[in-house]
Amino acid sequence: MRYLILSDIHSNLEALEKCMAMASGHYDQVLCLGDLVGYGPDPNAVVDALRGLASVTIRGNHDKACAGITDAEDFNPLARAGTLWTRQQLTAANLAWLQDLPPGPCEVAGFELVHGSPRDEDEYLVESHDAPPAFEEATSALVFFGHTHLQGGFVWSPDGNAQPIPCYGLANGSPLTVHIDEGSRYLINPGSVGQPRDRDWRAAFAIFDSDQRLVEYYRASYNLLTTQDKMRRAGLPEPLITRLQFGR
Ligand code: ZN
Repeated sequence: MRYLILSDIHSNLEALEKCMAMASGHYDQVLCLGDLVGYGPDPNAVVDALRGLASVTIRGNHDKACAGITDAEDFNPLARAGTLWTRQQLTAANLAWLQDLPPGPCEVAGFELVHGSPRDEDEYLVESHDAPPAFEEATSALVFFGHTHLQGGFVWSPDGNAQPIPCYGLANGSPLTVHIDEGSRYLINPGSVGQPRDRDWRAAFAIFDSDQRLVEYYRASYNLLTTQDKMRRAGLPEPLITRLQFGR
């Protein structure tokens, strides 16, 4: 089975469509690690698309805030502004669907999906020293996570060293392939579809082939100017618009 893993789409329809086009023919099922909405200009179109595409979707912190499950008081002012705008846009049906999304961890065919980490759906796993406690908590040797918007993740080899998986400078459509070895443990971050923060503006995603035990990391250029134009016309804060082109 080949799983297309999407995370942190953040209402960016152009980025999502580009990822789906690039991945076309290379996957059997879509799994989503949360943060479908918040920040970007197309919350309803993105939720509509994922409702049709994904066999499993778990919630992210922005889904919770935009659905009114949390109050966004702990968000910075820009993220809060994006949340309040998104709440006004969501249809009643999409709001209800977001409210019903399950939290991670979610077990799928011998591996695990989380938004932040296996310990806490809102925890950020950024540095190598963040990884061992998360590995200890995981119920599977293979965990997919998002939330940081940083493509890559960590591998914990049998000798007990947690190492980052470097994913810099991938060419468009030419994946970096990582073999999932027996005995090692993996925290895999597919990167963010709609608002990458690893200084690469291009949309990020991953494909996991469970038969071949391979994870492929992809980057995809998309029509950024269209997304930014939509955000300006929606009146979203300018720093949220410009950050997209810097990938941070
Ligand atoms: Zn996010």
